[in-house]
Amino acid sequence: MKKKRVELIKGDITLLDVDAIVNAANNSLLGGGGVDGAIHAAAGPDLLTECEKLNGCETGQSKITNGYRLKAKHVIHTVGPIWRGGFQDEHSLLASCYQTCLKLAKEKKIKTLAFPGISTGAYGFPLDLAALIAVTETKRFLNKNSYPERVIFVTYGDDNYETYRKLMDQ
Ligand code: ADP
Repeated sequence: MKKKRVELIKGDITLLDVDAIVNAANNSLLGGGGVDGAIHAAAGPDLLTECEKLNGCETGQSKITNGYRLKAKHVIHTVGPIWRGGFQDEHSLLASCYQTCLKLAKEKKIKTLAFPGISTGAYGFPLDLAALIAVTETKRFLNKNSYPERVIFVTYGDDNYETYRKLMDQ
């Protein structure tokens, strides 16, 4: 039987032994709270040093660095949109985050890639819509490309696990 290319787990993304984890960063790429703070803390100060050379990142775009002290070899930093009610292009900007991360993973021949729920914390994106965009964009990309081989959605806490589960079963 063919192995599933999309998986769902609960837990801390900083602990995963994968080729790359995605960071829900901000435009400065110089660290922040939430998953960004956790990734920088786990990766150590060399990650910030590399990020300082990147000149920030536009919303909806992504940039790749090494993973340093993480088990993950790379971090793909993407900047999700802040939810402002849904009329400021939030949907397509979040879709672009997933697309640009997946494209970078393909270019770097990354086999396993893990995503947190981009924009679903401090940036306030509705969980069900964010999960729908994440699953839709990922499945669409994987259907056309052989890299990344496997994508793991990582939910933190219970709130959005079931939302993803239902979408992935469809
Ligand atoms: P944003 O500013 O893009 O909303 P946050 O870091 O505030 O980013 O939240 C993004 C998502 O990451 C939220 O769903 C949050 O629960 C989750 N999260 C926070 N810490 C971790 C972690 N260590 N591992 C996985 N997901 C995490």
